[in-house]
Amino acid sequence: MGVFEAIGTDSHEEVLFGVDHASGLQTIIAIHSTALGPALGGTRFFPYPSEAAALEDVLRLSKAMTYKAAVSGLDLGGGKAVIIGDPAALRSERLLRAYGRLIDSLGGRYITAEDVGTTLGDMVLISKETDWIGGLPHSLGGSGDPSPATARGVLAAIRATAQRLWSSEDLAGKRVAIQGVGKVGMSLAERLTDVGAETIVADTNDRAVADAVTNLGSKGVDVADIYGVDCDILAPCALGGGLNERSIPQLRCAAVVGSANNQLARESDADLLESHGVLYAPDFVVNAGGVINIAAEHGGYSIDRAAEMVDGIYDNLTAVFEAAERNSVNPHRAAASVAEDRIAAIGTLAQKRRAAGTRR
Ligand code: NAD
Repeated sequence: MGVFEAIGTDSHEEVLFGVDHASGLQTIIAIHSTALGPALGGTRFFPYPSEAAALEDVLRLSKAMTYKAAVSGLDLGGGKAVIIGDPAALRSERLLRAYGRLIDSLGGRYITAEDVGTTLGDMVLISKETDWIGGLPHSLGGSGDPSPATARGVLAAIRATAQRLWSSEDLAGKRVAIQGVGKVGMSLAERLTDVGAETIVADTNDRAVADAVTNLGSKGVDVADIYGVDCDILAPCALGGGLNERSIPQLRCAAVVGSANNQLARESDADLLESHGVLYAPDFVVNAGGVINIAAEHGGYSIDRAAEMVDGIYDNLTAVFEAAERNSVNPHRAAASVAEDRIAAIGTLAQKRRAAGTRR
C-alpha cells in the first residue's frame, strides 16, 4: 500500500514526517482526530524493521487513541508518534529536542507523552522545546508515570466485570491470571492482593515473576501456559495481539480484562471470545487510566481528582456492557459505537467552541 493510501484509509487528519540528519532523527507524527480536542498520544521509540512498519503502527495506534479518549468522555482527540531506531543507540539531547521542535510546529494539535521506548527523562528534554507534552514528572508540575493510574483503572474495570458476571464487585478469593508483570501488571497484582484476590503471573522476565511470588504470594506459571490457566479473569498486561484463533480456544476464564493495547489480533476475535463464553472488556476502555491521568493535568493536577476520574472506568465499562446487550453486539463493537456516537455528537460542538475561540 502506498503512503497516501495508507494515510487515507482511516481518515487521519494529518501525518507529519520529520528528520534531523545531525542526530539521526526519523519520526512520524500521526494525528487521527482532533474532533473532540487536541490529539493526545505517546511517543514510541522503536527499531522498526521498515518505514512501512513504522507508518502502519503509528496510524493504528493514533486511531486507537481517538477511540480511547472518546469512550472515556475526555475532550481530547487521538494521535501518536514514532521515532524509528533503537533508543539505547540513538537517544541524544539533540534528537529529542529536534523532535520537540517538530511537535511545537503543530501548534498544540498534537500533545505527546511517554510510551514504549521513551522515558520521563526524554519527556523533560522534549519539554525544553515545546509545552505540548503531558505526564511530566511531579516536580515539573506534571502527572508523572501513568502506570499506577492505568493499573487503578484496570482494577476498576475488573470490579465492573465481576459485578456484571457475578452480581458482586467483591474480588476476595477470585483468581486473576496476569500476563506480564511490568509497570502496570505488577501494580495491578499488588492492588488485587490488597483486596484479597489470588494472582497467577507469567512474564518473560523471570525476575519479575520471582518478585511477585516472593512479595505478593502470587503463583508463577510458564509464559506458554498463561492462556490455559484455570481462573476467573485473564488480565493481558504484556503485548498486543495475544487474543487470536490459537489462544482463545485455550482460555479457561470467564472474562478478559487487561491493560495491553490492541489485544485482539483481528476485530472478529471479539466474536470468537463471545462464542467461547468469555466476556471481553475492550482494551481501550479498560486501559484509559493513563490518558485520563494526563487529561487531569488540565486546570492543575490533583492526584485525588485524577484517581476519581480514573475510577470512572467502572461506569464507562458498565455502559459498554449494557450497550452490547441492548444492541446484540460484542462489547468491542459496542465500545467503538459509544466512541463514534460521542465524536459525532460532541465533535460538532467542540468545533463551534474552537471557532468562537472560547476554549482550546
Ligand atoms: P512494561 O514493559 O513495563 O511491562 C510489560 C511486561 O510484559 C514486562 O515485564 C515484559 O517482560 C512482559 N512480557 C513481554 N512479553 C511477554 C510475554 N510474551 N508473556 C508474558 N510477559 C511478557 O509495560 P507496561 O507499561 O506495564 O504496559 C503493559 C501493557 O499495557 C502494554 O501493552 C502497554 O502498551 C499497555 N498500556 C500501558 C499503559 C501505561 O500507563 N504504562 C497505558 C495503557 C496501555
